[in-house]
Amino acid sequence: MLNIRYEKTLTPKELPTQDNPLKFGTIFTDHMFVMDYETRKGWHDARIIPYQPISLEPSAMVFHYGQEMFEGLKAYKAEDGRVLLFRPEKNIERANNTNRRICIPEIPEEDFLQAIKEVVKTDEAWIPTKPGTSLYIRPFIIATDPFLGVRPSDTYKFLIILSPVGAYYPEGLNPVKIWIEDEFVRAVKGGIGEAKTGANYVASLKSQVKAHEEGYSQVLWLDGVHRKYIEEVGAMNIFFKIDGRIVTPALNGSILPGVTRDSVISLCKKWGLPVEERRIDIAEIKKAFDDGTLEEVFGSGTAAVISPVGQLRWENNIMQVKDGGIGEYSQKIYDTITGIQLGKLEDTLHWTVE
Ligand code: PMP
Repeated sequence: MLNIRYEKTLTPKELPTQDNPLKFGTIFTDHMFVMDYETRKGWHDARIIPYQPISLEPSAMVFHYGQEMFEGLKAYKAEDGRVLLFRPEKNIERANNTNRRICIPEIPEEDFLQAIKEVVKTDEAWIPTKPGTSLYIRPFIIATDPFLGVRPSDTYKFLIILSPVGAYYPEGLNPVKIWIEDEFVRAVKGGIGEAKTGANYVASLKSQVKAHEEGYSQVLWLDGVHRKYIEEVGAMNIFFKIDGRIVTPALNGSILPGVTRDSVISLCKKWGLPVEERRIDIAEIKKAFDDGTLEEVFGSGTAAVISPVGQLRWENNIMQVKDGGIGEYSQKIYDTITGIQLGKLEDTLHWTVE
């Protein structure tokens, strides 16, 4: 159990109004959680303090070799006033998996959850309530040793910042156009693809820029070895419905094990749909499209929950899925997960934490 010190802000910011569109990740609340690590003391000095700049040496290791991890989850305000977190233990478990992979000291799970709960409670008034809105929670750890050699740092900072976010698609679900990347790769098995660390995202930027220039909103990655097996989208896992079966790439070490992915699989299984987690050759998707058995494509992730895919572009093939519209299961899964997140549907799978 952490002994958290509190320093409340003396100059609270004005809360965003209900009609502020809350562009993702642009507004931050009044407070943040901070905790330090050094070898002799372990994780120590847990505190909730006013949101403010942090001061680091220019030689701090995070700036040079990227030893940092982050997570992303959300808090929701239910209609009855309860504040609900969605499966935070999954994010905490993934955070410590990332930590182990990149030599950052782990954070005890109960301390991590306590830190999230306390900082969200401190800034509870910032949780927006309009449909589709939520409070995005960004925990992260950075390496702070002032040292230019390559080795794991001996000191770290763990922070949690909070950002009220608007509905990802203000008009409801909105099909996206996806560019299947055939030039660059994001990650390989044995690398850090399954860790949530900045390096994976910087590796994706060039493709993202290219896709945007071509009018596509996100990139779908193929595997880095054979260059033909489907991996994941920029910040989403990917699902296909082919001839009545739900198919998604298996967790092979190079893709992020999404919390939403896990939730989609659990729901589909509960509904009696056949679910296959396996290797998917992009040629299989093209064939299913040509056969007319590619019934739905959708992405899953914390930000949008479900993003129906209206169009896939692979080399010179443009595949218009569902005539560019929203599939039945994309809608049903979205309605169910968001219903549970907001406390509107019975939480039979025990996913929410008050
Ligand atoms: N893949 C990547 C690369 C991501 O950044 C994310 C977003 N965290 C996901 C998948 C989806 O994961 P989750 O459902 O846990 O948000």
